Amino acid sequence: MNWRLQDKALCVRCGTTGYAKKYMSGSFIIELFLVIAGVFGLLLFIIPGLMLIGFALLYSMWRITTKKWVCGACGASDLIPPDSPVAVRLAAGGTNLPADPKDR
Ligand SMILES: [Zn+2]
Repeated sequence: MNWRLQDKALCVRCGTTGYAKKYMSGSFIIELFLVIAGVFGLLLFIIPGLMLIGFALLYSMWRITTKKWVCGACGASDLIPPDSPVAVRLAAGGTNLPADPKDR
């Protein structure tokens, strides 16, 4: 399957079919602050400056690795390909969960 979350996706939470949006944890402001503080720290004291830069890098990496695609309408991460069997059943007016619990 070459479907990607960047493509059109169906949200099982709210039933919206649309484009997912990227969600990043953490804050860009904090990231920016850490980098600026690190650069200024580096000018004054090498070791604490390097520690701040290192922390800023770790923070950036954490943000990148926890990045995920969420529903553009409700923010849920329960996205499935719009042509999957569950999506087809939803489009046909069915429920989003299999009738038989064994199928879940
Ligand atoms: Zn949704």
